[in-house]
Amino acid sequence: MLRFPRTTAALALLLTVAACNANDAATSAVAEAIPDVTIPEISLKTMQDVVGALASDEFEGRAPGTAGEEKTVALLVERFKAAGLEPGNNGSWTQDVPLVEITAENVSPLTFTGGKAPMSLAYGSEFVAGSYRVQPKIEVKDSDVVFVGYGIHAPEKGWNDYAGLDVKGKTVVILVNDPDWQVAEAQGEFNGRAMTYYGRWTYKYEEAARQGAAAALIVHDTEPAAYGWNVVQSSWTGTQYLAASENNGADQTAANGWIQLDKAKALFAGAGQDFDALREAAKKKGFKGVPLTGVKASLSFDNKIARKMSKNVIGVLPGAKRPDEYVLYTAHWDHLGKCEPVNGDGICNGAIDNATGTAALVALAEAHKKAGAPDRTLVFLAVTAEESGLLGSKFYAENPVFPLAQTVGGVNMDALSGSGPAKDIIVIGRGKSQLDAYLEKAVAQEGRVVVNEPTPEKGFYYRSDHFSLAKLGVPMIYFDGGEDLVDGGTDAGKAWAEAYTEDRYHAPSDDMSAITSWDGMMADLRLYYAVGRMLAMTEAWPNWNDGDEFRAARDKSRTAAK
Ligand SMILES: [Zn+2]
Repeated sequence: MLRFPRTTAALALLLTVAACNANDAATSAVAEAIPDVTIPEISLKTMQDVVGALASDEFEGRAPGTAGEEKTVALLVERFKAAGLEPGNNGSWTQDVPLVEITAENVSPLTFTGGKAPMSLAYGSEFVAGSYRVQPKIEVKDSDVVFVGYGIHAPEKGWNDYAGLDVKGKTVVILVNDPDWQVAEAQGEFNGRAMTYYGRWTYKYEEAARQGAAAALIVHDTEPAAYGWNVVQSSWTGTQYLAASENNGADQTAANGWIQLDKAKALFAGAGQDFDALREAAKKKGFKGVPLTGVKASLSFDNKIARKMSKNVIGVLPGAKRPDEYVLYTAHWDHLGKCEPVNGDGICNGAIDNATGTAALVALAEAHKKAGAPDRTLVFLAVTAEESGLLGSKFYAENPVFPLAQTVGGVNMDALSGSGPAKDIIVIGRGKSQLDAYLEKAVAQEGRVVVNEPTPEKGFYYRSDHFSLAKLGVPMIYFDGGEDLVDGGTDAGKAWAEAYTEDRYHAPSDDMSAITSWDGMMADLRLYYAVGRMLAMTEAWPNWNDGDEFRAARDKSRTAAK
């Protein structure tokens, strides 16, 4: 994954203004604690050598569990060692990441009985479903059905769609996105049109599981979902990937899935309820979930299960003053491997996505080593299986080598620029944490400007590896080179980004020829260096801003650590 297409300048400016908020005062206090750093030479040769190797056909597109993985891990260990890092996992350079491949087979229709007329939804065209439970047989039988609005429990906002409901063993029906997604500005209880984590489908299933539901069904709706049913259908049928857990997902819902909007309307009408009216009501705080009285849901399928092992690679540069405080750099080393051939080329090399970010770990390690020991320990974490759903980073976050409460924060790099240098830098999820102030200081020092992401409604902050750590409270920042190019302005930048998205993204042609200039990423690397170095040299513990959905997790873990 990466965030594409990039921005348009006009929209970005508009959003920059909208981002000014009540956290400004807190931000200026934060800014005072940010140390000055000198940015050393960062090696272009390292970038070219490492990207060149990772994106070569010999590495087979770096799919987890393949010979391409072995070569990738070996190269990273060799380069981390040569850069002067130490092994990060108790003497080992790697962390084993057990993966599960799970495929639903013999899927029954999804049936609803007890309404005015029985309904039977066809698998694929009318509903899709899968399971996070790693068990061979899934059966949901005559389960009560409850509409839970947006399915959100957000204590920091005083919002609980499950208040007063007992959904244990029941099937919950949930709206996609968050309650104020139609608000034009990126401001409001749930950040207006900008998506919060409460709007992501992953969250809906997690919350339903916490509530003890047997099944969770999201009602598809093209606009708030930001994609059509075809995307739901293609991504939810076929093999799914999970990071293995000790309980094999026993704490998850038995089944989770999506249903078509018109089927949801019919289902509600059959139970004497008005879907449109309930959808309106669910936008308001204090909304109470509504049981579809008398209606029972049933569904069954088999799970074909396969397991394989992959690896995260971890190197550290120990801190001289506070070695037990950690600053992270993350980037996913994996890509799609062998893929659908185009013009006879059947290897998805993933040069930009994400050989660039992975090589950046090496180049930054070298630069930090050269600059001398930081005060805090710098951790260089190359994670696996991002393309399968952020699995390597999720596994690390749930099984951290270094305690998350002692992890100050971090920077994620996913798909660096392959164009010339830009005047701007795009922050994904701007306004979420005090890390913005670190980046802003570095950007000002470099004579560039910060702009907001152009499509916050797409929730890109929740779609790369930094999110796995953010969700558990660790402040993480994610930014990309902009598209207002020094040479050619936004026209040139947009043209470059659009060509990449259309012709090369997740295709065999994301190879070395996709990098038309190294200047943009080398300029951006200076910012990645500076933000990491600032975090490694300060005594401050930057936090999520007030009202952010990850603040409570951080406050809790830091309080416990003190
Ligand atoms: Zn990526």
